[in-house]
Amino acid sequence: MDTSFSQDELDRYSRHLVIPEVGIDGQQKLKRASVLVVGAGGLGAPVIQYLAAAGIGKLGVVDFDKIDSSNLQRQVLFSTADVGQLKVDVACERASSLNPEIAIYRHRAKLSSENVAQLFQDYSIIVDGSDNFETRYLVNDACVLLGKTNVHGAVHRFDGQISVFSPGNGPCYRCVFSEPPEPGAVLNCAEAGVLGVLPGIVGTIQATECIKNILSIGVPLIGKLLLVDALDMSFRTINLKRNPKCTTCGDTPEIKSMQDLIVKHVPVDRSCALNQGLQNSAGKQLAATELAEELANSNKLLLIDVREANEYNYSHLQNAIHFPLSNLPQSLHEIPKDANVVVYCKSGARSLKAAEMLQQAGVRSVRNLNGGLSAWSRQVDTSLSVL
Ligand SMILES: [Zn+2]
Repeated sequence: MDTSFSQDELDRYSRHLVIPEVGIDGQQKLKRASVLVVGAGGLGAPVIQYLAAAGIGKLGVVDFDKIDSSNLQRQVLFSTADVGQLKVDVACERASSLNPEIAIYRHRAKLSSENVAQLFQDYSIIVDGSDNFETRYLVNDACVLLGKTNVHGAVHRFDGQISVFSPGNGPCYRCVFSEPPEPGAVLNCAEAGVLGVLPGIVGTIQATECIKNILSIGVPLIGKLLLVDALDMSFRTINLKRNPKCTTCGDTPEIKSMQDLIVKHVPVDRSCALNQGLQNSAGKQLAATELAEELANSNKLLLIDVREANEYNYSHLQNAIHFPLSNLPQSLHEIPKDANVVVYCKSGARSLKAAEMLQQAGVRSVRNLNGGLSAWSRQVDTSLSVL
């Protein structure tokens, strides 16, 4: 690879070139580097921009999602006019207009155990900007198996965490968090919310760690977890140890081959699986219009709203009682087993989990409002606005 610099590049990178720890040698290392960013969302926004600006010679982005107006509060790479476009397309366009000197590769795909080896093979560092546990564990396991450095970041409301997992040198993500939480046990980003600037802070630290790793300078966050609390504005580092019993990087790992990885990460959409389970048992999906009809004809339904308190307080269906999903396991005994229950949330995913819990608890008739309150506000009552 040609790592000499044109005059334009020398001008562009001049503030790097004057730093003794970077200089021409360091800038060449950046030019030779290859980094794949998983997810062009809140974390991806600063990561992609700073890595492109820094002159990473080969920068890849993998994402399958489209830009939604609810992304704009934190995904500052996108503008209002971009809503509806693929994130990866817009992100790569912005990165390439920021720095046309580098090669940018767009991967329009949802990362899965089936495509992960092929996607990761051309990159030496993976920056994990994903927003869900499924992808996070997949990135970790694949990085260990393929020997790639994993620059990890995650955000939740006001809290963030960052670490660098370097196979053969310190722990992996699974050494610390051995298994993903049960579906429904932890609120996802859409349910829990996140302060808009937080992924900006965390993603910028991920980009910093990535650049330091390439330059081999400073003290990396290997074997350490940096915890950011935006409310206290405190940064705390805890030391992490490799777990010899870790199923991924331990002394007798479960995941030893790509085949093991595929078995461990069955690419099944959780809500589809849950849906399937429900269809096979007593539970059923109920369309918003069907619910409206039943409510008009009978008052014997027990309507349960499983959203969080702020969502319920903003608007809910008349006579709906409130049992947030996050607290449902503690409240199950309060729901009569012979009630004719209809559960709902905003879009129908959380209530599907709730329906399954209720069925397992012995409630005989449980149906889920398909499409949730959003469908209701589109199909039945357009005056209802939904948080
Ligand atoms: Zn491990």
